Amino acid sequence: MNIDSSKPVLVTGANGYVASWLVKQLLEAGHTVHATVRNPDDDSKVGHLRRIAEQASGELKFFKADLLDDGAFDAPMQDCELVFHTASPFVQWNITDPQAQLIQPAKRGTLNVLESVERVATVKRVVLTTSVAAIYGDACDAQKVAGGVFTEAHWNTTSNEEHQAYSYSKTVAERVAWEAVEGQNRWDLVCINPSLVMGPSLATNSQSTSLSTIKELVDGTQRTGVPKLEFGIVDVRDVANAHYLAGFTSSASGRHICSAQSITLLGMAKLLRQKYPQYPLPRTLAPKSVVWAIGPWISGVTRSFVKNNVGYPLKFDNSYIKHDLGMEFRPLAETLHDHMEQLLADGIIKRR
Ligand code: NAP
Repeated sequence: MNIDSSKPVLVTGANGYVASWLVKQLLEAGHTVHATVRNPDDDSKVGHLRRIAEQASGELKFFKADLLDDGAFDAPMQDCELVFHTASPFVQWNITDPQAQLIQPAKRGTLNVLESVERVATVKRVVLTTSVAAIYGDACDAQKVAGGVFTEAHWNTTSNEEHQAYSYSKTVAERVAWEAVEGQNRWDLVCINPSLVMGPSLATNSQSTSLSTIKELVDGTQRTGVPKLEFGIVDVRDVANAHYLAGFTSSASGRHICSAQSITLLGMAKLLRQKYPQYPLPRTLAPKSVVWAIGPWISGVTRSFVKNNVGYPLKFDNSYIKHDLGMEFRPLAETLHDHMEQLLADGIIKRR
């Protein structure tokens, strides 16, 4: 699908951790960005975007839109050929009401945006921010896939409202999007499925789990040992670029695993220690039985999560995104170091 780059592009949840980098890239490339946020008047949420726009050649226009307000995306979508739908809550632990906190905003929100796409005839492409969480549920699921490596052909079939509600929310949201694109040929759907996103944040007020994960690794919270947990990791700037390429590469199609490499928590600590040896980074693994016993009290992780994820390898095949979008990924050391520098600059971690 050819996108006219002189037309405005819509970014939902524009103030989020991931979306802020996308908006920056779009504005610096000269695009007009229609940015939806829940409260355009809250400077603590959108001030960073206004400041970026002041320095960039593109134009930024804010629109107020909640995922659960029917029709809220009609006005911001006017004249747009390209829609980036990133908004969705990324909360993983201490979930008390999975429907309200995760599933409704993810699923109903995606349908709400796509219903606007149906009404706004200029739209030609939707780029949906989904997740590897829509590809697998638990790391132990890898034992059932060829070579133990997840690809775009896999779908998460093991998460539900009670177990891994965030992953379930991403799975149902992506599924309804693929159903919605069927039966018409005016617009197409390109999905970006990032693994755990890390790297510096432009947003000062994001609730993204990405930002707490690395803080807890370096602030001493986990100095007595970390669970043997492996993650796919990708730099937030690379995720933004993947969205940009998905939007403007006319031949782009399908789902795209967006993950630079897999690494354990202990491996991340080791990489960070090379540059920051003075911080109380963990050096040992916490036994799975201990994590199972005290994890729910200390960090809100569930016992079923510990059972199905701790101690299992987690690998993703990222060859399709390299081939389809020409993606290149930053080295993980750069991502973690830049993330740490930002935590220090913002005073979230004290400089030693
Ligand atoms: P984030 O900073 O918390 O951004 C989430 C965005 O969604 C915020 O703009 C938030 O707005 C918006 N949002 C949440 N509920 C909403 C509602 N009811 N109505 C309107 N907007 C709502 O998290 P993020 O990490 O950037 O996540 C962005 C996207 O990337 C999500 O789709 C997430 O699932 C996906 N993703 C993230 C990761 C990761 O590791 N970070 C990995 C894979 C996929 P407010 O600021 O008003 O709350």
